[in-house]
This record gives sequence, structure tokens and C-alpha cells, in this order.
Amino acid sequence: MSENCMEKSLRQLPSVDEVLRDGRVAEMLENHPRIVILGAVRAVLADERKGILSGAAKTRPEIKKEEYLEMVVEKTAAVVKLAVRPNLRRVINATGVILHTNLGRALLSERAREAVNIVASNYSNLELDLKTGRRGSRYAALENLLTSLTGAEDALVVNNNAAAVLLALSTAARGREVIVSRGQLVEIGGSFRIPEVMAQSGAKLVEVGATNKTYPEDYRRAICGETAMLLHVHTSNYRIIGFTRETTIGELVEIGREYNLPVMSDLGSGFLLDLSRFGLPQEPTVQEVLGAGPDIVTFSGDKLLGGPQAGIILGKRYYIEKMKKNPLTRAVRVDKMTVAALEATLREYQDEEKAIGEIPTLQMLTVNQGILEKRAYTLKSFLQNVLDKTIAEFTVEKGISAVGGGAMPTAELLTAVVAVSPRNISAGELQAALRRGDPAVMGRVQEDRLILDLRTISDTELQLLAEAVARALE
Ligand SMILES: *Cc1c(COP(=O)(O)O)cnc(C)c1O
Repeated sequence: MSENCMEKSLRQLPSVDEVLRDGRVAEMLENHPRIVILGAVRAVLADERKGILSGAAKTRPEIKKEEYLEMVVEKTAAVVKLAVRPNLRRVINATGVILHTNLGRALLSERAREAVNIVASNYSNLELDLKTGRRGSRYAALENLLTSLTGAEDALVVNNNAAAVLLALSTAARGREVIVSRGQLVEIGGSFRIPEVMAQSGAKLVEVGATNKTYPEDYRRAICGETAMLLHVHTSNYRIIGFTRETTIGELVEIGREYNLPVMSDLGSGFLLDLSRFGLPQEPTVQEVLGAGPDIVTFSGDKLLGGPQAGIILGKRYYIEKMKKNPLTRAVRVDKMTVAALEATLREYQDEEKAIGEIPTLQMLTVNQGILEKRAYTLKSFLQNVLDKTIAEFTVEKGISAVGGGAMPTAELLTAVVAVSPRNISAGELQAALRRGDPAVMGRVQEDRLILDLRTISDTELQLLAEAVARALE
């Protein structure tokens, strides 16, 4: 572009005020903060100016001022749309991983969602005893439900299981030694590592045994005057198989009694129901673990339990009472929305069959193959309705889904999937486009096909998903 042309183009560029006076921009100003709109207009104009000066702009000097304004408004609208979009937004989980930590783990039941809505929109008796008018405990209802469902003597709920472990260790073993098997020094995604949490709590880790084998004698030999506790950690996200020997919680309880030491079990994903009749691996339930007699048991609220993020601590009153008095409890306390959602979730468990029907995590774990297949064929037909055969091919197949969330790592759940083979782009490109779409979709790529696992997709999402795939392919 000649210098003359550039100058002409620059003169045609509307001013910030001119853009702000445009009808469509005025409408944006009514719906969104002025600072956002102003920022968008300035960014678009700066970009245009840069384009003209570098000669890269496609705008010709003959362009009419109104046309230029129209174009700038158009671009501003696009920038504003992105700027006002919440960062945390809906994702359609087509990975089949039921407890996907990156996707927010458990979905709440309808009753739990309603309970959250009520305490979020209204004042509540969070810390008020309505009978006496005196100060009440935010944990009271949860304690009653948890002890009656599990048979535990007492209960406490904190922010998450990591906080539960930290609080328990800090209360019962600060400045003293805790004995753990080398086979149980787990890392749970993110940054939860047993040795590091232990260090943070002020307790000293004493490792015993070998990775694959730890005998009761290994614990006995390590016990000394400094020992405060015997800790058992569920190896949530991995399994040691083959030539192995784990000292059970029951055996640890026996040793604990011999030496008058408390025993704690970090269960990771505590589970209240035995779902082996649905073909799931037989894992001891929280009730069974408590039956073996440990002093403290901790697990997550948003893993297999299917509730909100929380750390649930069950056990002997002596230790729970001590934890309640620890100042750390205040720092890791749960908020009212968690209390509401957890109470509603626990109430579902008062009727096992209803729990399986109402709690999304349990529904997804137990849903039968026939339903998944039917869902897959429905998705395929929706996809064929919105998409041309020349753009992609869709096939319904059998697949395997994982539980996720560090729970049941060896479980292979038979599922139904729709495999998408795009013709003009790679499966990886389709995956990336779906991730950036709205709503975003997360699927997995396998042999240059995008796999959509129906286990974690609800019937009400099928049309939305088909449309998202169509947009991503176009
Ligand atoms: C998941 C898990 C944790 C951490 O629980 P969060 O609720 O995510 O804090 C701790 N220990 C074990 C064994 C786990 O599986």
C-alpha cells in the first residue's frame, strides 16, 4: 500500500467514540460492563491500525467509512463475546471416565442441586439451632447421617480428603512417628503425596516393608516410644499384583491394640454400597472397614460417594473430638453449599435402590450395556441428521470405560461408543476443535478416530453433542 493509501485508510478508521455511538455497541453496553466493551473497541481499533500500517490489512482506501464502522462493530462483538464468557463453563464429558478430576469429578443428584440452590439463595440455619435459638453446629446433621449410615462413633467433615488426612495426622501424630508400608506411599494426581502431607502435618514418616510385601512383623519391629500411629493408605490409583502381601487393616488394629496405638485408614474413595452385583470389583465398603476397628477412617465426598468436594472423617469419638478442637479444623471447614449438597447426598443413601437411581455417579457405574447401546444409536442418528456423509463416518462399537478419580483402577466397564472418522481433518484436530467449542466436548482419540463414550453422556445431552460435533467438523 502506498503512503497515500495508508493515510486514506487511517482516516476512514472510525474513532472510539464513533464505535461506542453505534446502535449495536450501545446495546452491548446495556448488557455488559463498560470497561469490557471499551477494552474490546480499543483492541479492535489498535489491531486495525496496525494492519493498515503494516500493509497487511485487506481494507482498501475506497472502503466507505460506514462499511468500515460496520466491520469494526462486528469484530468488537466477537471480542466481547469471548471476553464475557465465564472461564468455568460446561463441558460434555465423552471420555467415559466417571470421576474425571479435571472435569469436576462427581455430578450432584437433583436433590443435592436443589439443596445447594436453597442455601445459596436464602439465609439458612447453618449455625443456628432453631429449637433453642442458640448457636448450633454446621456439622450436626452431617454427623448424625454419617454415624447412622456407617455405624461410626463420630464424624467430621472438612474441605477434602487431603485436608482430612492432614488434620488427622496433625491432631494425633504431630511431632511423633507414623508407620506406613512402602507399598502405600501413593501420589494422587495434582500434588497429594503421602510423604509430603505427612511432612506438612508435623508427623514423621517411618516407612516399613518392601513395595510389594509388608508383613505385620515389619510394623511391630518399627514401633518405639516415638510411634504415634499406624497408617493404612488405600493404593487408590494403582494395584500391586503378583507376589504381594499387604498387612490388612484388621491386622493393623490387632497390632495397635497390642501396643496401645491408634490405627488410621485413608480410604481415598470411600464407598457405602457393595455394587459387585453390577459386575464391579468387590471393594470393602466404609462400613466393613470400620467393622475391622480402626480409630480413624477418611475418604472423599466427590469420588465414588457421588457428592460435593469434601473430606469425610469417621471414627472413635476420642480422636474426632480432638480434631474438632484443632485450630486447623477452622481453616479446612466446609462451606454451606457443601453442607447442603452432602446432607442431601447422604439422605439418598438411606434407601440403597434410590441412591443407585438418583446419584449420577452410581447411575453411570451401574447403567447396563443395552441402555448405553441405545444411547449410542440415538447419537449416531442425530449426527447423521446434522452432518453430511462426506464429512465423517460414524460407527457404534463396544468399548471400555474407566471409573477414574483414583477409584477401582483395574475395573473395565463394558460400554458403547460412537467412533467418529473425519474425512477432511485428523481425529486430533477434531478433538481440539471440540475442546474449544461451546459447550466444550472432551473425547478421546484412538487410531485416528474420535471416540465418544456414552457412559458419561446423558440422554438430554445427545442433541447438543451432535450439534457440537457438526460445528467442529465444519
Ligand atoms: C483421592 C485421594 C486423596 C485425596 O482426596 P481429595 O478429596 O482429592 O483431597 C487422598 N488419599 C487417597 C488414598 C486418595 O485416593
